[in-house]
Amino acid sequence: MSKIQAVIFDMDGVLIDAREWHYEALNRALNLFGFNISRYDHLVTFDGLPTRKKLEMLSREYGLPAKLHGFLNDLKQVYTSEIVHAQCKPRFQHEFALSRLKAEGYRLGVASNSVRRSIELMMEKSSLAGYLDAVVSNQDVEKAKPDPEIYRKAMALLSVEPATTLVVEDNAHGIASAKAAGAHVMVVSNPNEVTWDRITDCIKLAETKQGTHA
Ligand SMILES: [Mg+2]
Repeated sequence: MSKIQAVIFDMDGVLIDAREWHYEALNRALNLFGFNISRYDHLVTFDGLPTRKKLEMLSREYGLPAKLHGFLNDLKQVYTSEIVHAQCKPRFQHEFALSRLKAEGYRLGVASNSVRRSIELMMEKSSLAGYLDAVVSNQDVEKAKPDPEIYRKAMALLSVEPATTLVVEDNAHGIASAKAAGAHVMVVSNPNEVTWDRITDCIKLAETKQGTHA
C-alpha cells in the first residue's frame, strides 16, 4: 500500500477566497472599455480559468478587441494586487493545517492557474508561503488547467508519484486536471472546508482505496 507523501493545493477557492477579487479586478479593467462579465457567467463559465483565457472567450463571444488583451491583463493584475494587499489575511485553520501536515512529513505544494506574482503575494499575505515546497503557476506550463500539465509539474517538483499525491480542488477545471494527472482528489466547495481533519480523513481514504486495489 502506498502512503500519501504530498498534498498539492489549488489556490483560489481552496486556500484563498479570491473568486470575488478576480471577478472585481477583471470587471474594473473591462468596464473601462464598456465590457462586463456578469456574476452568473463568472460563476458558471469563467471561474478558475486564467485571465488570458477569459479574455479570449470575451473576444470570441462578445467582440472584445484582441489588441486590448495585453493591456487588460496587466491592468487586471494591478487591480488584483491592490485588492489582495487590502484584504488578504492569514487564516488560522489554514496555517494550522499546513504547519501540521508539514510537521508530519508531507511535502506541500500549490498549483494554480493564477500568475506567479499573484500566487506569491497571496501566499505571503496569508502566511502560508513558508510551508510550501513547490509553487506552479500558469506561467510555468504550456497548458493551464483543465490540462493535467500543471499537476504533473508540481508532482515532479515534489518528487512524488500520482498514487502518493492528494490534490485539494474546488472547481471542475481543476478537478479534471488533477484526475487526468492521476492524483487522488479531495473536492471542497470553499476554503472553510480546508481543515487538517478533513485532509487527514481524505489521506486515510486514499490510502485505503489503494490498499484494496493493490
Ligand atoms: Mg480553484
